[in-house]
Amino acid sequence: MLVVGLTGGIGAGKSTAAARFAELGAVVIDVDAIGRDVLAPGGRAEQGVIDAFGPGITDDNGNIDRSKVAAEVFGRPDRLTALEAVSHPAINAELDIKLRSLADGGKVQAVVLDMAVLTESRLGQLESGRGYTKVLVVEAPEAVRLPRLIERGLTEEQARARMASQASDEQRRAIADHVIVNDGTPEELAGAVDLVWAELTG
Ligand code: ADP
Repeated sequence: MLVVGLTGGIGAGKSTAAARFAELGAVVIDVDAIGRDVLAPGGRAEQGVIDAFGPGITDDNGNIDRSKVAAEVFGRPDRLTALEAVSHPAINAELDIKLRSLADGGKVQAVVLDMAVLTESRLGQLESGRGYTKVLVVEAPEAVRLPRLIERGLTEEQARARMASQASDEQRRAIADHVIVNDGTPEELAGAVDLVWAELTG
């Protein structure tokens, strides 16, 4: 079973590409969603994150308030490292369980891990050997990403701050096996995904 790590800067078109992979028959796992699940009540990283950050990051019900966590780590690399030290192993453990069960089923040809954070950490790299073995990067120039993000409801300032907090195109390209430049139409993006799919599975 092929496991591909799909990443890209915010607004580059990663999720749109992932949707195309799903149409082609890949199983897409939303790794960012697992990141939310591990912080939810009963989640694998819930207690560890409360221990690391204190009860101040919980809401009135004692559950982790992700907006408080985000505010705590934004622009503070030491706090982000503390969060990831707890959350990433938890995410990888959940991912390993999902990938094992897909592999055991014997029916899945390819899994695409849709993950905003790939370049920056060991997320998706599993000691079991079940993690991604290929990296696909979707990129687009900032001038193309900005209007897409503004249309999605961010202010220009928020969009620029989010882009600046992520890995650079150069960093992503350095670890990519495949790069798709999404600066054209959605149809062109789908066509580029189809070509990569043919290469990966051919
Ligand atoms: P990401 O997951 O990388 O943040 P998305 O796939 O959500 O990015 O794309 C960001 C926005 O841009 C979405 O609203 C999406 O529909 C739109 N979009 C993606 N690719 C294109 C494209 N080639 N042309 C026009 N809009 C696009």
